[in-house]
Amino acid sequence: MRIAIIADVHSNLEALETVLRHAEGENALDQLWCLGDIVGYGPDPSACMAVLRRFDLRCVAGNHDHAAVGLLPTDDFNRDAAAAAHWTALQLAPEERQYLENLPHVVQEGDFTLVHGTLRWPIWEYLHSAEAAVAHLQLQQTLFSLVGHTHVPMQVVEDEKAREGCRGHYLEDGTKIELADERLIINPGGVGQPRDGDRRAAYAVYDADARTVTLHRLEYDIAVTQGKMEAAGLPHRLVYRLSIGQ
Ligand code: ZN
Repeated sequence: MRIAIIADVHSNLEALETVLRHAEGENALDQLWCLGDIVGYGPDPSACMAVLRRFDLRCVAGNHDHAAVGLLPTDDFNRDAAAAAHWTALQLAPEERQYLENLPHVVQEGDFTLVHGTLRWPIWEYLHSAEAAVAHLQLQQTLFSLVGHTHVPMQVVEDEKAREGCRGHYLEDGTKIELADERLIINPGGVGQPRDGDRRAAYAVYDADARTVTLHRLEYDIAVTQGKMEAAGLPHRLVYRLSIGQ
């Protein structure tokens, strides 16, 4: 079984298609796991949803998915993110809205739990402190979990001997995680809006037979996405940040 793990597509069709083409390069994917935020920020919400739904998809809800369908107020969003959420809401067909509204908050698949933020606060909490990671691990009923939301590729290993209860590592292009019996949290990074200073799209492949998860980074045609964003009148700061991976 080969499964692609993606997060934070954010309506970026060029990045999504590049990732899926790469993931399907050698063999067809058996499943696609998506950690939320299909929409928000980018110019192609409906097209991205259509592409994803052609796969055997397991997907959880993200804060931008909820904001786009009115399940989450945009008061806590910055002004640009809120503007993009309102623009996105106007693009969605009723059936697409319904799909986003009905996304589960948490999904279990075999040894993995999928969630956008953390198990403590699935839609909103960023897993970027040891305290959040330990609280998440306490709620994690499977050996491994997959999170998105920070748009930064990393893994956290539970380690009771470590002072903070866990160890975190950044994941680079080509990093292969060998799954064993250590409890882990993996973030595959962001497909459509990376935030680790590397503008390349990020995703991971889970090889269930080899018991590995491998992180990949891919260049895609950012200028095409940016051109569509300008044409749609999306905020300039959101256009620019794709160039710098922030
Ligand atoms: Zn996101």
